[in-house]
Amino acid sequence: MYSDKTLTCKECGREFVFSASEQEFYAEKGFTNEPGRCPECRAARKAQSRGGRDGGYGRSDRQMFSAVCASCGKETTVPFQPSGDRPVYCRDCYSSQRRRSW
Ligand SMILES: [Zn+2]
Ligand SMILES: [Zn+2]
Repeated sequence: MYSDKTLTCKECGREFVFSASEQEFYAEKGFTNEPGRCPECRAARKAQSRGGRDGGYGRSDRQMFSAVCASCGKETTVPFQPSGDRPVYCRDCYSSQRRRSW
């Protein structure tokens, strides 16, 4: 019979429980290796490998353009191509502008 086992995630280093039912499931599937990652890291990996082109998880694959803030002159990056007919603001100025106009 199986009993709960505590394993250490090789990705985040956290301990997690490899439960008896999971072990049974693994054995049924014919997996001989114990899971190396905690459920969170496994889910994160799955979400990543699924692609998620517009799944909302795109973190670093968005192209950024460098621009100069029209308010303070600081160099900043924006997620769109600055067109030139609209002023571009850095994050600080953008949020303070919004605060002012609303
Ligand atoms: Zn983990
Ligand atoms: Zn600025």
